[in-house]
Amino acid sequence: MQVLYKSTRGKGETVTASMAILKGLSEDGGLFVPTEIPKLDVPAEKLAQMTYQETAYEVMSRFLTDFTEEELKNCIASAYDEKFDTSEIAPLHEANGAYYLELFHGATIAFKDMALSILPHLMTTAAKKNAVKNEIVILTATSGDTGKAALAGFADVPGTRIIVFYPKHGVSPIQEKQMVTQKGDNTYVVGITGNFDDAQTAVKKMFNDRELAAELDGAGFQFSSANSINIGRLVPQIVYYVYAYSRLVGQGKVKAGDKINVVVPTGNFGNILAAYYAKQMGLPINKLVCASNENKVLFDFFRTGTYDRKRDFILTTSPSMDILISSNLERLIYRLTGEDAQKCAELMQSLSEGGEYTITDEMKKGLADFYGNYCSEEETKETIHNVYKNSDYVIDPHTAVAAGVYKKYLKDTDDHTVTVIASTASPYKFTRSVMDAVADKEEDKDDFALADQLSAISGVKVPKAVEEIRTAPVLHDIVVDAPDMPDTVKKVLGIH
Ligand SMILES: *Cc1c(COP(=O)(O)O)cnc(C)c1O
Repeated sequence: MQVLYKSTRGKGETVTASMAILKGLSEDGGLFVPTEIPKLDVPAEKLAQMTYQETAYEVMSRFLTDFTEEELKNCIASAYDEKFDTSEIAPLHEANGAYYLELFHGATIAFKDMALSILPHLMTTAAKKNAVKNEIVILTATSGDTGKAALAGFADVPGTRIIVFYPKHGVSPIQEKQMVTQKGDNTYVVGITGNFDDAQTAVKKMFNDRELAAELDGAGFQFSSANSINIGRLVPQIVYYVYAYSRLVGQGKVKAGDKINVVVPTGNFGNILAAYYAKQMGLPINKLVCASNENKVLFDFFRTGTYDRKRDFILTTSPSMDILISSNLERLIYRLTGEDAQKCAELMQSLSEGGEYTITDEMKKGLADFYGNYCSEEETKETIHNVYKNSDYVIDPHTAVAAGVYKKYLKDTDDHTVTVIASTASPYKFTRSVMDAVADKEEDKDDFALADQLSAISGVKVPKAVEEIRTAPVLHDIVVDAPDMPDTVKKVLGIH
């Protein structure tokens, strides 16, 4: 079966998977969705015998049907290798009445690595398949995490360059250190004097600048995006839900066919959408529990049917979920409309113009797969504390939001189905908040000293990703004003 991709706002034209990955976003502003969700027609007992890489091939080959077996297997082998600190890639850890699916064993110790370690390979393969001769230039504006994960993924991948812009005074010391010490001849990291929005706006402008595109083309380059709406990031995320289920079957924790619940700490709605697609493929998932922090736009949406971004943006200790516009929700909305692209486009227009939209009662019925709730900052901290006290297991604030919401779900429903919690970051990435919750930390300690203290109480070694940057030399030190970003791009690419 061939799976093609169409836009959530389009007229039904389709493109191949490789074109959808190259384009990222459809020209009409919509997101690419598969024309059909393929079935996972492999028995769970058989999946239980497979490695992560083999599982990845089973899942991804069903979505990316214009990739050959050899191409896809090469991409998978290049992505899920020694960059991960465990051969299991995404291990399950049983603690406090649930299974934590640890998605943070890659290069930057957060779940973005699961997709960004394979996207560069999918993209360069897609470029070859479509006879693209130019080098691909990834442009990214980052508020911290995505930038580093994209840098780590694209570093030294032939046929690509990556330029990351970050707000010089808007990221944490560890985040900045992670980026400015990035190795790789094709990586460029540039601080800007403005804030994240200034960086993001300037990047979007460059993507739409036809004159700049022509200049780049003349010099043998073209822009692309590693944004989380790229289907090349979504499909690899379906894999680990299938993998988690098959591990549970393999370990005898569930019987093949038994349902599980999945809890996902959510920002852009990408990770939980992947779980939803896994369910549509036939993976026995009962409830998809959507966990938000105090930016609880999604909780309110599930409750009322109205998505309303007109509210204050709250800075929390789970910054990767501080989001008021969950871009990937559009893919769910599209399905809820019965794949009515015009209706979907109208709702999205209403969101961008008026800041809100409301779905119909009919559409609301389709939300029955989901349960939404949120955790306050206090509840998040309490959850880190309690999980540590009860199970000797230290979780990061994003994962804690999920664990806290799971507790609320149990109280609301008394549904004790076996549950997998997506654990999206290593506690070492957010040492300060974590130590605040589990121990008496000394205020004057720097983040590295806190990491040592965390290691002492948790018995988990400080990850390589943190050890490496402790002493690594700074390799990137350019800082520019936002309006000078296009000139900087031309300069680093050697275009005059
Ligand atoms: C990006 C991120 C999330 C949110 O994932 P979405 O796919 O945007 O919902 C959660 N936790 C961490 C640590 C992240 O980096």
